[in-house]
Amino acid sequence: MSTALPNLLGFGRPELAAFCAQLGEKPARPFRAKQLLHWIHQAGIDDFAAMSDISKALRERLVSEAVIRAPSVVRDTTAADGTRKWLLDVGTGNAIESVFIPEPNRGTLCISSQAGCALECSFCATGRQGFNRNLGVAEIIGQLWWANKCLGSYQGDYVGERKVSNVVMMGMGEPLANFDNVVAAMRLMLDDDAYGLSRRRVTLSTSGLVPALDRLREACPVALAVSLHAPNDALRNELVPINKKYPIRELLAACVRYVEKAPRDFVMFEYVLLDGVNDSLAQARELVETVKPVPCKINLIPFNPFAGSGYERSKPDAVRRFQEVLLKAGLIATTRKTRGDDIDAACGQLAGQVADKTRRAQRRGARLAAEGATAALELAP
Ligand code: SAH
Ligand code: SF4
Repeated sequence: MSTALPNLLGFGRPELAAFCAQLGEKPARPFRAKQLLHWIHQAGIDDFAAMSDISKALRERLVSEAVIRAPSVVRDTTAADGTRKWLLDVGTGNAIESVFIPEPNRGTLCISSQAGCALECSFCATGRQGFNRNLGVAEIIGQLWWANKCLGSYQGDYVGERKVSNVVMMGMGEPLANFDNVVAAMRLMLDDDAYGLSRRRVTLSTSGLVPALDRLREACPVALAVSLHAPNDALRNELVPINKKYPIRELLAACVRYVEKAPRDFVMFEYVLLDGVNDSLAQARELVETVKPVPCKINLIPFNPFAGSGYERSKPDAVRRFQEVLLKAGLIATTRKTRGDDIDAACGQLAGQVADKTRRAQRRGARLAAEGATAALELAP
């Protein structure tokens, strides 16, 4: 983004009120923030001049002193099953992805929180890319703003049918590693004058940053998904290296604390099934024991292979048997359908080629190639 003008797309209610006051509105009028939220997030307007219920003088100041700008779209692809993926330019050679998954009773948007990711989970294409930078609030909420606009949610001055009914933070990046911006963006998602989504319809997925999870519980408790992927520390250390810092026992204790404040009374554990790595019956039985302390559901995710990953998707039979062990033990376990396979819109899937990690430093900032791993998913209702 070339302009240095403030981008009001990422401003919450207090920031908008303060900004208008700064532009010389006297006395400060709190309802200005509400009006701006409506125009930007409910009418999808990016032109201040069109905001007809705001005084002409203020509109003119806004036109010259601020912008409303979402990341620009580089590519827009729709899969045979209706799944739609946008590749968005976030500047300095970085691109991110968001994926919209339409279903009969809801529309889920999977959004990114970082360009790349520093956490290096061994089976994840984003992790293989390394970390580029945190997304700003406007870049995070801009994905939702853009999807709604593109899908035709905005009609005339105000919101029509909301096409995006659910948001999941399961695209590129670790949302809890970009805490402040992610929370600010989620507050806009929840704000009745912006997107008005209920906390149950906004899901944050984390690989398990325990202190940040505790902060989230206080700051903005939304539905929670946790990437578990292994029944014990030895294996999880290998697959999800942040486990060495926050081992399973500590993570599960944080989950129990989280559920006390969460809008749903369970945590969704994600478990990517990797052939011959974490999909044996013994591991299923061990998983049953491991998750016992936490009210939870388990979402089994077929691994989405990418070049050079070194892993393979578990055989359908192994998936079925693994799930059966969980079900027989009384757990709720679902298998995620893969969506948008033909446009690489599934979990951890790169739109482009995965660059070798050793070449990462040379590539960084060099070109628009950091196309993201995006988790297109099905969360149990
Ligand atoms: N960083 C967060 C959210 C983004 S990843 C997290 O790790 O939870 C979203 C989900 O996609 C996570 O459960 C992640 O483990 C999973 N995932 C990553 N790579 C995948 C792959 N190649 N196949 C299937 N799922 C994958
Ligand atoms: Fe980062 Fe999540 Fe991928 Fe791990 S699975 S590298 S935390 S995006």
